[in-house]
Amino acid sequence: MSEKIVILGAGESGCGTALLAKKQGFQVFVSDQGSISQSAKNIFDTLEIEWEEETHTLSKMKDAQYIMKSPGIRAQTPLVQSLEAIDIPVISEIEFASKYTKATLIGITGSNGKTTTAMMTYKILDDAGFDVALAGNIGNSFAKEVAENERQFYVLEISSFQLDNIVNFAPHIGVITNITPDHLDRYGDDFTAYLKSKLRINENQTQRDFLLFNGEDPQLSTAVQNINTKVTLHEFGTLNKNINTTYIENDNILIETKKNKTMINTMEFPLKGRHNLLNAMAASTVANLLDVSKETIRESLLNFKGAPHRLEPVLKIQNIRYINDSKATNVNAVYFALESMSAPTIWIVGGVDKGNDYEILYPLVREKVKAIICLGVDNQKIINAFQSITDLMVETQSMKEAVLIAKKIAEKNDNVLLSPACASFDLFQNYEDRGDQFKQAVREL
Ligand code: ADP
Repeated sequence: MSEKIVILGAGESGCGTALLAKKQGFQVFVSDQGSISQSAKNIFDTLEIEWEEETHTLSKMKDAQYIMKSPGIRAQTPLVQSLEAIDIPVISEIEFASKYTKATLIGITGSNGKTTTAMMTYKILDDAGFDVALAGNIGNSFAKEVAENERQFYVLEISSFQLDNIVNFAPHIGVITNITPDHLDRYGDDFTAYLKSKLRINENQTQRDFLLFNGEDPQLSTAVQNINTKVTLHEFGTLNKNINTTYIENDNILIETKKNKTMINTMEFPLKGRHNLLNAMAASTVANLLDVSKETIRESLLNFKGAPHRLEPVLKIQNIRYINDSKATNVNAVYFALESMSAPTIWIVGGVDKGNDYEILYPLVREKVKAIICLGVDNQKIINAFQSITDLMVETQSMKEAVLIAKKIAEKNDNVLLSPACASFDLFQNYEDRGDQFKQAVREL
């Protein structure tokens, strides 16, 4: 009898796991509490994979050897708890996929900057001629890549939900970009639990592996220094200079390892902001550890185009710059967005609050923001947070209205920045929809 795997959730990671599990000879059963897309059903039917939707049938799961829980499903759901109670291992998609590849894994996690850092790292390795794919939270799932497109290297963008259900998963190079409050609703409002979940990227790493972390992030830095690990720890940040650090000197990224000291000139790097410099430092360090030349690293980063919705320049109209940072769904991302503004800024903010504490933004708002445009169904928290430090606040409930008002307020050389600090589900389908509507409204001005 072949082994059986039950896959909870038929989204990207569920479909990928189903493909890989089938290829590996598993009996596969996919179960989704919601409806399953027609394209997923077609895949399952073609591969003769049993599936169910709008329900979970526990009796069909009890004989499984593994349960793959999609990252969107909470650990606290009664079904997951029942399965754990009967001792069936509940694993994540990255755990499952990593069993079936011998590739070198680069795992990138953190609260902000995962996508950007993963894309930069992938681009450098790809430009350097590596047999590499980018997967995980970005593009195809890791499992799908392993099933269909085996490579020697994978750059993986990894969320804490994926790390929550690992057993043996171990990247050769792990990167933690930063850790700031986000998704705390999934961690019982416990920041330490969220932090611990991110640190699990290191859980199975061995002596020959590396853990890169942001040394400018005090909580992360302290937590990493306190873990008991045999890996080579490598800190990146603008401050410390030492072996196993990456830092900035003049306009150069300096990478010091036991093997070498490498200098990469950052002049003309297209991505702006200190956060993107940190992302570039992390990506360059990964590449350096994999022996990519500094020339290739610089050339590659010079040609790096940022991902859409992350401080994305949209248009300059009558000398007013419109910038789409719709992916800034937490306060920390907004902090870096405002920090990188070099002109007076009309700031469009709001949406579904995730327990935000806006206080760290006060100095930047005082210094850079000339008007706040609230864009959300419930704007009260933002109004309360900023009314005493802003001259002008306007409430709006559609993107068109927000952009029109921003245009009215803005003067020559100002910036109009959409950087919401909130989730988008009150007025938009998702952050992409929010950013697309912003761009559309700007183009129609
Ligand atoms: P993630 O995949 O972790 O959500 P992204 O690269 O998609 O990260 O960026 C999400 C948001 O965070 C964007 O608004 C972006 O400008 C901002 N950001 C990117 N890198 C960092 C960083 N290192 N620190 C803080 N904010 C960042």
